[in-house]
Amino acid sequence: MIINADLHIHSLYSMATSKNMTISTIASESKLKGLDLVGTGDGFHPEWLQIIEQSTKPSKTGIYSVKECDNDSQTRLIKSVEHPETSTAKCKFILTAEVEDRNRVHQLIILPSIESAYQIREELPSKNIDKEGRPRVDMNGAELMDLIKDHNGLIGPAHAFTPWTSIYKEFDSIYDCYNDAPDFLELGLSADTDMADRIEELQDIPFLSNSDAHSPWPHRLGREFNEIEIKEMTFGAFKDAVKAKKVVGNYGFDPRLGKYHETGCVRCYDTIPIEKARELKMRCPCGGLIKKGVKDRIGDIAKWDEPHHPEFRPQYTHILPLAEIISLVHGKGITTVYVQKIWKEMVQTFGSEIEVLIYAPLDKIARTEPKLAEVIKSFRENTLNIRPGSGGHYGQIILD
Ligand SMILES: [Zn+2]
Ligand SMILES: [Zn+2]
Repeated sequence: MIINADLHIHSLYSMATSKNMTISTIASESKLKGLDLVGTGDGFHPEWLQIIEQSTKPSKTGIYSVKECDNDSQTRLIKSVEHPETSTAKCKFILTAEVEDRNRVHQLIILPSIESAYQIREELPSKNIDKEGRPRVDMNGAELMDLIKDHNGLIGPAHAFTPWTSIYKEFDSIYDCYNDAPDFLELGLSADTDMADRIEELQDIPFLSNSDAHSPWPHRLGREFNEIEIKEMTFGAFKDAVKAKKVVGNYGFDPRLGKYHETGCVRCYDTIPIEKARELKMRCPCGGLIKKGVKDRIGDIAKWDEPHHPEFRPQYTHILPLAEIISLVHGKGITTVYVQKIWKEMVQTFGSEIEVLIYAPLDKIARTEPKLAEVIKSFRENTLNIRPGSGGHYGQIILD
């Protein structure tokens, strides 16, 4: 079977996260989104681990289902969605965590069980592991990889190209970090397969596209996700699938919409060509710091100007959260009643947000939302006009 999976989110115990980041809300919102499997995030945080244990059924397979999805007072829509395939059956979690290593590289970790999370926790040298959902650990990438492998988990760099806390801000090669190949590489919002496949050393490594969501609403959760071909819903089968490079689809932002696509100023957000930025010694005329964008960072380490996709590499499909597209089309805020009403109608009609974005017949969407259908079509056909993001400012879609 092929499942939709988002393997990197954060709980309410991480910095700058929504207090709604609870298991039951994530579970119900992930159904509306159309996700089959979601990472718990923050899998080393003691209170979060307790909440996971309390809100899910015990499991020998490493995949956890939510106890009482439908009784959740925060469930906004579930009861009214008349699609049995999106009802309670589908609240599945896998243990995941993100840590910041000694070199300030963010590492994404996927674990076999709650028990293994408790065991690894004890072996992680960290001052803030009891306080912070995404702790700092005093280990380098190679040491961390050894530890995670000893416990049969999976590890790879998170948002591998971002300028502050990623593997490629620190190293020119993944091997300088781990001495070995990681199990996967997470692309992050500012990169896609076409960009990453310019780098020779990544030719044999599966790519993940995850949301890194800090709030559970479907304009964050699953804003990037993976299609994974899996034999059964167990951690073992999941691990086999990643090892066998059975990530069969990546879905996520057009990288030009990412906050750090182009080189730019973190204060005034002006985009600055890399040659000019170097002349300016990475200081903007406004006084702000210039941050090298993901595009230029990949240019530094790339072997090829054009992508070289290995045979197993799946297609990368550009998507944007449905509420964001509706907001754009109607010129109203994402969280307004107006936009949410249309979002709800669409999800009710087609079963989930992913259905609307990727599979729903455009003529059927056009019956009530002709402009929306047009924009979804340009996503599907990859013909959007975009003003790239830079300096920490998201890129923008220009509609004509
Ligand atoms: Zn991170
Ligand atoms: Zn994160």
